[in-house]
Amino acid sequence: MRALRWDGVQLQFVGAQHIPTPAPGEAFIRPLLVGVSDDDVDVAARPSGTAGDAITLGQEFVGVVESVNGADKDTLVGRRVVGSPIVVCGACDLCVAGLSAHCRARTVIGLHERDGCFADVLTLPTRNLVVVPDSVDDDHAVFALPVAAAIQAVRQMTIEGRPFVTVLGDSTIGLLTAQLMSQLNASVRLLGEHASNLAHCEKWGVKHREANEVGRRADQDIVVDCTGTAQGLQLALQLIRPRGTILLKRPTADPVELAPAVYNEITIVGSAVGPVGEAVTMLAQGKIDIVSLVDRRMNLDDGERLIKAAAAPGALKIVAAVR
Ligand SMILES: [Zn+2]
Repeated sequence: MRALRWDGVQLQFVGAQHIPTPAPGEAFIRPLLVGVSDDDVDVAARPSGTAGDAITLGQEFVGVVESVNGADKDTLVGRRVVGSPIVVCGACDLCVAGLSAHCRARTVIGLHERDGCFADVLTLPTRNLVVVPDSVDDDHAVFALPVAAAIQAVRQMTIEGRPFVTVLGDSTIGLLTAQLMSQLNASVRLLGEHASNLAHCEKWGVKHREANEVGRRADQDIVVDCTGTAQGLQLALQLIRPRGTILLKRPTADPVELAPAVYNEITIVGSAVGPVGEAVTMLAQGKIDIVSLVDRRMNLDDGERLIKAAAAPGALKIVAAVR
């Protein structure tokens, strides 16, 4: 089968990757449509310097369950599904405490010790899967993970008294987060650097500005940094009010001067994967516009070019058909 692989140094699109066998409790899934995530781009942008065991990239997919090893056959075989990327043990102290997203033995598809969805086939535990209702087409379903990540950011905020919220970064996740937050009782603005991306905010009623045009008045109650850059976090530290909260949606590999966080008593909260089932429900209810966020339609055969396209400045979501 075809697969887009990463070995720590280089991307390789291979045509004869071995076909995986589902372990007990796992489903054998044929992806229909996949999306390139920020993680896919970040992984390929930060080579380790030494080639190691390669894994197949890709976390965002909608696919059809072809078979199941174990129970759940009747409910899943032949159904369209999306999936949570984190595979957990269910037995460690964190899993038992209800924090299974942080399982000590976790693997993550396309990222950490588990093959992802940029391939003709992938396997995932059935408990990771969410069945997609017929009313949600593939184009919408493939956005389940980024919508879930935006829901997670909203969940982690405390909305009291109509707070001032700034979202940094006009990428897919920034635009989704701003869109969702504007549906709450908050004054939301998005700061970015690509006029064509910022223009999408008009139809959602979200205020928007070019990041270099705004004053650094330290008056925002909440800043959500979706940039994944040191400059982004530095700007967040200038915009946030004393004792305000910064939500970090994307890691940066570069050092950041954190003194303002100490002196201004800022709370910095990491925000990662969210509830995939809730995301599918929200997509089914038509509560979120994702159509504007599709930047390019490609095919799995485009291989390495998928990651390049997603890494281009100002790129929104790159989706790729697998068949
Ligand atoms: Zn665990």
